[in-house]
Amino acid sequence: MQIELINTGSELLLGRVLNTHQQWLGKKLADTGYILSRQVTVPDTAESICDAVQAALSRSDLVITTGGLGPTSDDITRERIAAQFSKPLQKDEAIAEHIARFFSQRKRPMPKSVLVQAQVPEGALVFNNEYGTAPGLAMTVSLSKSFISNLQPWLVMLPGPPRELRPMVETHMLPFIRQEFPLKEEFHCCTLRSMGIGESMVEDRLLDRIRPLMEQGLDLGFCARTGQVDIRLCGHGSEMPAIIDKAESLIRSEIGKYIYGTNDDSIEKSVVDKLIAKDQTIAVAESCTGGFLGHHITSIPGASRVFLGGFLTYSNELKEKMLGVQSETLAKNGAVSEKVAIEMAEGARLNSNADHALSVTGIAGPGGGTKDKPVGTVWLGLASIGHKPIAIQKYHPYDRETFKKATVNQALELIRRRLVKNE
Ligand code: ATP
Ligand code: MG
Repeated sequence: MQIELINTGSELLLGRVLNTHQQWLGKKLADTGYILSRQVTVPDTAESICDAVQAALSRSDLVITTGGLGPTSDDITRERIAAQFSKPLQKDEAIAEHIARFFSQRKRPMPKSVLVQAQVPEGALVFNNEYGTAPGLAMTVSLSKSFISNLQPWLVMLPGPPRELRPMVETHMLPFIRQEFPLKEEFHCCTLRSMGIGESMVEDRLLDRIRPLMEQGLDLGFCARTGQVDIRLCGHGSEMPAIIDKAESLIRSEIGKYIYGTNDDSIEKSVVDKLIAKDQTIAVAESCTGGFLGHHITSIPGASRVFLGGFLTYSNELKEKMLGVQSETLAKNGAVSEKVAIEMAEGARLNSNADHALSVTGIAGPGGGTKDKPVGTVWLGLASIGHKPIAIQKYHPYDRETFKKATVNQALELIRRRLVKNE
């Protein structure tokens, strides 16, 4: 089956907005058993959109467009596509009511122009937009005889904003695709998520053991991200769940201590869930991550049951005042050091009375590095009731944002290991 994705939006080509639809939709479709054949990004001009849609339809079973369904003058997808395939636009009263309700619930006046979004090409299916006003549309298109005769590919149009597109895809588009294009064989997929082990090492340790299962049709893939590697196990057929289970057991027996979750799990979710299960609490003391560690923990629903709070101690003065770090320790070792990380973690634990406290102190750069402590050096501390406090050193010589993300991941991995193994 051929599926093509057309992302419309000049802002994507200008590099002003990251094209997250390509990645998110590609993953969602692949995890459901449908692989994108091709993707293209085009500017918001009628000619570019129409050319891209015509070309994609001529070689595909399904073409998905994103963006340009809104009410402003640069939103031309619906109107141009309808004209291109000679489908008259008709007002859909249910959508018009939804739009009017959307504005009245928010106590905002409704500009007349927004009602253009209630125009539906004749015969099109409507995907309701629970988080916005422009519905998604799906329609079959008859291609002229000069293309492929008797072929009626589907064209699906989705709105641009991710907060509108994503729920629409989950609730409406994927069920539609499953029904309209049933898979010849069942499809199964599982992703194991690992942290703290490099991609090549993962492959070295797994490939030979998994190979016999690959010969039975298992598709094994690796995806490396900041400090993490995802291991994707997929395949078709009714035997696949058992094969995937076998592969998972083999992988866990080989590198199980690095695996923190499956599918859409995050490391922060794994930590919060484990703390909830153990009925234990945590606090954090952050310097170079500037609150990013606390932010990640509090992004997980239910964090309030286990997260007591954080000490954001960027300066040495606050490290002393808020956490009781000794001025001699700072003077002798510097703020980015094992001893300071330990005193920060101990201070955070004692001052919060939490069961565990994590600390982070490092040099994000670009300035401030020395020969002994180059930019990217970071110390992570952990103090837990009943354990001697520990600190580990890491090195992340990246831009500030990546430095923070990698550091937060490793701090979370430090506490996760303790919760799992008591390490
Ligand atoms: P609206 O009603 O908001 O105008 P729309 O369906 O007309 O929605 P666009 O105008 O094309 O969609 O895009 C709206 C916003 O959605 C963009 O400004 C951008 O922030 C976001 N967006 C659009 N396409 C993408 C994409 N491929 N990846 C990530 N974000 C996107
Ligand atoms: Mg728009």
